[in-house]
Amino acid sequence: MVEAFLRRIVCRCRFVSLILPIFLAMPASADAPAFCAEIPRPGWSAFEKLGVSNEWFHVYRIDDGLFAITEPFQWQEVINYLIVGADKALLFDSGNGMGDIKAIVDQITALPVTVLASHSHIDHVGGHWQFQTILAPDTAFTNDRAKGRGNAFVREEASAIALCKGLPEGVTEDNHHTKPFVPTGRVTDGSMIELGGLALEVLSIPGHTPDSIALLDRASGRLFTGDSYYKGPIWLYSAETNLAAYRTSIARLAALVPILKAVHGAHNEPFSAPVELEKVRDAFELVYSGNRKPNAVSDTQARYDFGSFGLLMQANHEVEK
Ligand SMILES: [Zn+2]
Repeated sequence: MVEAFLRRIVCRCRFVSLILPIFLAMPASADAPAFCAEIPRPGWSAFEKLGVSNEWFHVYRIDDGLFAITEPFQWQEVINYLIVGADKALLFDSGNGMGDIKAIVDQITALPVTVLASHSHIDHVGGHWQFQTILAPDTAFTNDRAKGRGNAFVREEASAIALCKGLPEGVTEDNHHTKPFVPTGRVTDGSMIELGGLALEVLSIPGHTPDSIALLDRASGRLFTGDSYYKGPIWLYSAETNLAAYRTSIARLAALVPILKAVHGAHNEPFSAPVELEKVRDAFELVYSGNRKPNAVSDTQARYDFGSFGLLMQANHEVEK
């Protein structure tokens, strides 16, 4: 399990250089990064891969009207979800901004598409600029990230250590950047997004970032958790992460477990059992109360392993006694 965590940390960590000295050594050759050997991860085998997949995006049908559009060959292994109602569709996250995600979406549905991010990290808003209807929370973090990010900020995402395959045509390590976008509408806690026979409730769950949200489909029992929960080490170490807020938010999500049938996180694999949310809540309580020692520590980061997931925090993170 430790080995698996090491690989996952390598595979989707912009700050990998901070933890490399202790956790592992880089491959000596120009071989593909270690995470490439795990693609596709086992959780995808339960779902039908669709023919609209291309060299960059792989598309899976999760259910009628629910599609996962993933970028499996880039170390974030981000998963964007297209949720299609009778009248409209919602794209929840738009990926890294490498490749034409709108062209994929257009092949799946002819309905009007609104885009909304689970939060404004670069691997979730990269394709926003391609869409005309863009919902977003009205937070300072969101509005700052909506300005885009230049090549210096994101170039590592398009570098050899982040990739199992070549980049989409026209994208290079030297020209990749995150394009700005302009929200056309705002969401807040409790906002309802009606797609026609399908309603999504916005839950504000700050912590991973100040603008993190989840989407709840009460009728089907589906919860889309963004980066607040996914299979793998959950990143809780960024400057914009607030652990006290995360504690409240993960407890809020875990309290929904009795009405949930499926949890869809934003990285690695598209389905998790709802009970995982309770496990994360309890694990976080252990760590946050100072009652759990990390499994690995570097100068900057501490990693706590809990089997099917982990918590990755700053080495000197706050603890509430
Ligand atoms: Zn994130």
